Amino acid sequence: HAKAQPRASFQFWSEDINTRLHDRLALEIELRQALRDDLFLLHYQPQFTFQNPRLVGMEALMRWQRTPDQLVMPSGFIEIAEESDLIVDMGAWAVLQAARQVAQWLQAGHQAVPIAVNISARQCLNRDLVQVVRLALLETKIPPHLLRLEITETTAMTDADQVIGLLREIRTLGVGLSVDDFGTGYSSLAYLKRFPIDELKIDRSFVMDIATDKDDAAIVRATIALAHGLGLKVVAEGVETEEQSRMLAAKQCDIAQGYLFGRPQPLDSITGLL
Ligand code: C2E
Ligand code: MG
Ligand code: MG
Ligand code: MG
Repeated sequence: HAKAQPRASFQFWSEDINTRLHDRLALEIELRQALRDDLFLLHYQPQFTFQNPRLVGMEALMRWQRTPDQLVMPSGFIEIAEESDLIVDMGAWAVLQAARQVAQWLQAGHQAVPIAVNISARQCLNRDLVQVVRLALLETKIPPHLLRLEITETTAMTDADQVIGLLREIRTLGVGLSVDDFGTGYSSLAYLKRFPIDELKIDRSFVMDIATDKDDAAIVRATIALAHGLGLKVVAEGVETEEQSRMLAAKQCDIAQGYLFGRPQPLDSITGLL
């Protein structure tokens, strides 16, 4: 009949939506279980100075060991986790895990370099973050500057006043703070001055084209100059070629992170670097 037509197409549409909702929900449940079963792990990407490369830090990047031979990258789970409070628990786990790793390296007599942990927006608007950091420091007794937090520029701008208040408390504990993916949001450095940060990470998209795009080269040069004027250290993300590295060094960039210097790697191989 005439009436059956729209109804049928509506059913198609709704089944499709239902399937997707179901998939997302199923993934969220699986992630929650994975957190309980301790199936998340951290890989570590080294950071070096440009001049006579010296290891000065590393970034902790989360991975999910979904099955013995399936390692899932953040693009496969962070977004879903961010839609629920799950990201808050996962982030708390990452902070504690990183602090414990620093403590373990110190106990083993290794060189001490700071580990930076990524913090998502939802976690940054959650007061518990201060307590999570405080407890991690208390439990591990590591020097606080060996723990760093990275928040993206977009997160910083989400609810700037609230984020600033929370970050001040964390900074008071002695923990370092970086603004991640800088240049992708809409803030100016003048505005960021209000944030109690000590480091800025230039987004990979600017580094990628630094050798071929005059505008990107100019943006990077100006960003570094202003950041230094504000007393911030500058990290370049995603350094992949010698040419990019040379240009960044010439612009006085402080720290390099990228495949040219080292990929994110499991605990065992990064420990070998220390
Ligand atoms: P991010 O914090 O900007 O981390 C840098 C990403 O760039 C990492 O991807 C890293 O593997 C990749 N990368 C580093 N050097 C290069 C390079 O030379 N070339 C290219 N093409 N890529 C490079 P990864 O590990 O897949 O992480 C992606 C994003 O997931 C991170 O971006 C971060 O936003 C998020 N993430 C990772 N771990 C966590 C976590 O523990 N908590 C939260 N909330 N987010 C996390
Ligand atoms: Mg990061
Ligand atoms: Mg980044
Ligand atoms: Mg990025």
